[in-house]
Amino acid sequence: MREYLQFINGSLVKSHSSEMIEVENPYTGVTMALAPQGDENDAQKALEAAQNAQSAWAAQPAAVRATYLQKMAKAIRENRIELAEILASEQAKVLPLAQVEVDFTADYFDYYAGWARIYEGEIIQSDRPKENILLFRQPIGVIVGICPWNFPLFVMARKVAPALLTGNTVVIKPSSETPATTMEFAKLVAGLDLPAGVLNIISGRGATLGETLVRSPITGMVTLTGSVEAGSRIIAATAENITKCSLELGGKAPAIVCADADLDLAVKAVVASRVIFSGQVCNCAERVYVQKEVAEEFTAKLVKAMKAVTYNDPFFTPVPDMSSQVSLDQLNKIEAMVERARQEGAEVLCGGKKADMDSGYFFEPTVLGKCSQNYEVVKKEVFGPVLPVLTYSDLDEAIDLANDCEYGLTSSIYTANIGKAFEAINRLKFGETYVNRENFEAMQGFHAGWRKSGIGGADGKHGLYEYLQTHVAYIQY
Ligand code: NAD
Repeated sequence: MREYLQFINGSLVKSHSSEMIEVENPYTGVTMALAPQGDENDAQKALEAAQNAQSAWAAQPAAVRATYLQKMAKAIRENRIELAEILASEQAKVLPLAQVEVDFTADYFDYYAGWARIYEGEIIQSDRPKENILLFRQPIGVIVGICPWNFPLFVMARKVAPALLTGNTVVIKPSSETPATTMEFAKLVAGLDLPAGVLNIISGRGATLGETLVRSPITGMVTLTGSVEAGSRIIAATAENITKCSLELGGKAPAIVCADADLDLAVKAVVASRVIFSGQVCNCAERVYVQKEVAEEFTAKLVKAMKAVTYNDPFFTPVPDMSSQVSLDQLNKIEAMVERARQEGAEVLCGGKKADMDSGYFFEPTVLGKCSQNYEVVKKEVFGPVLPVLTYSDLDEAIDLANDCEYGLTSSIYTANIGKAFEAINRLKFGETYVNRENFEAMQGFHAGWRKSGIGGADGKHGLYEYLQTHVAYIQY
């Protein structure tokens, strides 16, 4: 069994605490790895290491910092098979998807390395003679990155790559559900010549180690990807030091299907979007609004497609569409939400229950008909393979129903009419809208939630500038 150490100040070290996280393979139920259940002392040491390393790191040219991102990308590629296997094992992600995540993570480091010679300050016209106003973009300092369990390696890179490139130093805390792949990455980084303290990776509970990290006056910025509840707690914890927060939180993505849409395409994209990683993806379709004229035809096609979704061991061939939920807690949460929907009046059109499997935490791909806007399953994030379907009369109504939600991460519309698509894009209160395709963002875009889905965002140019603060100089000559 793999047993991990903390990565602090350039070395793999034992945690101050002797407690360990037992990382369960959700499909087999077997403990596959042990990771430190780090405590406040580990957090403090990692923060101090990051603080001590920061000015020397920031003094390096960005192009030099970029070379370390390239080394991280190379190390990931050289270990791509093993990393994907660990990832697939620790969270029951089907192996090809785990491989996509690993490869995408390497590409992500290379992508941000490419920004070294591109990001820039500004020279602003002054109202005074013989004066220049220079706007510098400078690093914030020590960045604390808190990661969720669903895309542990990629989300880690989403924080580390732009933060390091811009001259910040970093402390990363993976979720205690899935620390293994991140701690494996820490081992790879320990083998590089990255200056000590520039990147620190420590595992432990959110409520103890995580809270210490986010409350510390050393921390210049917290970037969390996780639930709305954790986001609220982190806003409260960072209030005292007025620490900048970038929060990427939950979603409840609406998919609007217009009567003029290519229904086969819409079904394929909505199903792919709903069952990828067993429905445990923040940006994927969580509720469908279909125009009344085509509701019957669309729903029949949707039910047929959801019934055809395959699920099995994440390492099985032929590759199943999805696998086990990440934990028994998640499975029970999904089952309870479907049960409450049934009690509220929803009709189970397929699935609706735990799947009969020898091992793992499987929930059957589920479509719920006769749903109303006020049902919990339409309002709250399910994070499982469950799709409530509602109908609407015209686009105005569809947009109102889609917007009637506390989340604002992603949304989608299926239509053959580009005018309708633009109407929706202009009025949907979401950070992203996908037109005639499944919800899946690009690294050069900008992934940002509105309303309770978050503050700030990641990826591309705007994601890079999150990690920089401005400094203006007024120069008389
Ligand atoms: P979670 O909120 O339970 O945990 C996320 C991280 O926060 C973990 O590392 C946890 O230990 C830590 N944490 C919790 N409380 C903390 C505290 N008080 N102080 C410091 N750290 C704390 O979320 P999860 O269950 O791991 O992930 C699933 C959620 O993440 C879903 O809601 C999903 O939609 C969301 N998510 C969002 C995005 C996005 O890009 N918007 C991406 C992936 C996941």
